[in-house]
Amino acid sequence: MIIVLKKEADDAVARELLGQIEDFGLQPLHMPGVERTVLGALGDERILQKLHLQNHPMVESVRPVLSKYKLVSRELQPQDSHVQIGPVTIGGKGFTVIAGPCAVESFEQMLETAQKVKAEGAVMLRGGAFKPRTSPYSFQGLGLEGLEILKAVSRETGMPTVSELIDAKDLEAMVEHVSALQIGARNMQNFAMLKAVGETGHPVVLKRGMSATVEELLLAAEYIVSTGNANVVICERGIRTFETATRNTLDLNAVAFIKERSHLPVLVDPSHGTGIRSLVAPMAKAAVACGADGVMVEVHRDPAAALSDAAQSLAPEDFHALMAGLAPFVTAAGRNDLARAAR
Ligand code: PEP
Ligand code: MN
Repeated sequence: MIIVLKKEADDAVARELLGQIEDFGLQPLHMPGVERTVLGALGDERILQKLHLQNHPMVESVRPVLSKYKLVSRELQPQDSHVQIGPVTIGGKGFTVIAGPCAVESFEQMLETAQKVKAEGAVMLRGGAFKPRTSPYSFQGLGLEGLEILKAVSRETGMPTVSELIDAKDLEAMVEHVSALQIGARNMQNFAMLKAVGETGHPVVLKRGMSATVEELLLAAEYIVSTGNANVVICERGIRTFETATRNTLDLNAVAFIKERSHLPVLVDPSHGTGIRSLVAPMAKAAVACGADGVMVEVHRDPAAALSDAAQSLAPEDFHALMAGLAPFVTAAGRNDLARAAR
């Protein structure tokens, strides 16, 4: 339920109503705005009726939140959310480029990659320490050692980091070592994990499951936010369709749709979205055009030697070309100049 207060309602009124909402066992939300204060009450709608909030002299209107996902919807919060990850803000006017290898392989590999992508304007470093691999015989990641490398490289370069959590038992170590927790496609509906990352309050990059609908993705985000963690960034990474020409089908409809319905920032991952190196740059441009708040791309210092996702990894010179090609699109979309990030 959304409760819009009258312009003249002061803070005491908001507090009184929030108290009533809480006394009824509902989740109260306080959203003070420039014009007027909006309150939210989440929970059993039948209880909400009993509150008769519409009769309060300082209440202008009471209406239900129609979408299944509530906290992440624009019905509840019309303005864009900004998610702060270290010095980087995702959402708003900026266009954020996150780059790095699929997997952390060594300290030298991460440091060299970080320095190179930073010089081109990437503001955040990616790299999996724990890798969810289709085959048990593939490289599974360096684990804790990988996390330590990410932390050391972040300290050295000043870049915040994002890395995937594949088992809730690693959560504490992840929070300690990386700036943002990535929930991968394979865990998008691991509800226990979503609640656990929610409880940490640590920023989360939530990737879309490969056969998840947009509604399921937004409900997964709702799990995290409803556990008390508003720092959620959505990432479209392609879905499984009948098409086999590309690794996945990058669903850019979803980006425009989510931007319309949700206030959360949205990234696009054109690396997993296509699985093909030469398609990463064109789809990164398309991401700008459809309203994404940034891209996350895989870059390896020597793609031929990459221990995972070699075919979609960009070499540093490919990344240079991607950034140069992307810049005019970012400017045309009215977003902040990419080159500023490189300075
Ligand atoms: C990754 O980012 O390397 C990854 C495994 O992504 P996804 O979960 O989207 O497959
Ligand atoms: Mn990968």
